[in-house]
Amino acid sequence: MKLKQNTLASHQNNTVVIGERVIPYTLRQSARARSVGFSIRADTGLVVTLPQRCAPHWLDKSFKQYAAWILKHYDRIQATAEKIPQRWPYGTTLPYLGTELPVELVVGKSSKVHFSELLGWQVESKSPSVTGAKRTLKQWYVKDAQRVLKERVDYWAECMQIDYNRVTVRAQKSRWGSCSEKKNISLNYVLIMAPLAALDYVVIHELTHCIELSHSRKFWAGVAQYCPDYRVHKKWLSTYGPYLGIPE
Ligand SMILES: [Zn+2]
Repeated sequence: MKLKQNTLASHQNNTVVIGERVIPYTLRQSARARSVGFSIRADTGLVVTLPQRCAPHWLDKSFKQYAAWILKHYDRIQATAEKIPQRWPYGTTLPYLGTELPVELVVGKSSKVHFSELLGWQVESKSPSVTGAKRTLKQWYVKDAQRVLKERVDYWAECMQIDYNRVTVRAQKSRWGSCSEKKNISLNYVLIMAPLAALDYVVIHELTHCIELSHSRKFWAGVAQYCPDYRVHKKWLSTYGPYLGIPE
C-alpha cells in the first residue's frame, strides 16, 4: 500500500492505494483532533481528518492501520451506489415517493412544470437548458413537498393526538427534520423523493419530539407505537438518503 500523494498542503486529488484499489479521499484539518481520523459516507466519500500538528508519517501509518476498515466500508458504499439508477441529468429519471419517474425537457411558450405520478415531469421553457431545468425542478419539488409533507404532518398529528405549532419545509443540508421547543417542525424537502413509509417515519419522529425532546427510551417507544418498523426506515434513510436531491 502506498500513498500517491500525501503532502499536507494539497487537499485535493488525493488518492490512496490499498491492495488493488485506488481510493480517492479528502483531507480535513481539525483543531480538536488528537489523532488521524477516517470517515466514509456516500455523499462525502473517504474523509481523513488530521490533527493540527501532524507529522507526515502519521498519515501513512494510520492508513496502514485502518486499511481493512477503509476497504470494507468503501466497498459497502460502492455496492450501494451501484444499486442507484443514474439520475437526471446524468440519466433520465428522478425519484418521487420512492418511484423513479422520467424527466423530459420541452420547448414551450412559458416556463412551467407538468407532472403526473404516472408520466413524471415535463419541464417546459422557451429554451430548455439543464441549469434552468434544475432550478425549476427544485422549486417544483420544494413546493410539492410543502403540500405533501404538511398533509402527512396533519394526518399523523391527528392519529397521535399531538399538537404542533408550525411546519416549515425547505432545503436543508444535513438533516431530515427538526422540532423546536416551541413545537415548530422543520422538514427537508428531499423527503418527497423517499418512499412514503420513510417520509412518514421522519414525520412521526418529529411529532414525537413535541412531547419528548430528547432521544430517550421513552421517545423511541413513542415512535415505535406509530411506526413499529422505524429501524428499517432509519436504515433506508442513512443508506439511500445521501443519494436523494437534485445533483448540483
Ligand atoms: Zn430526533
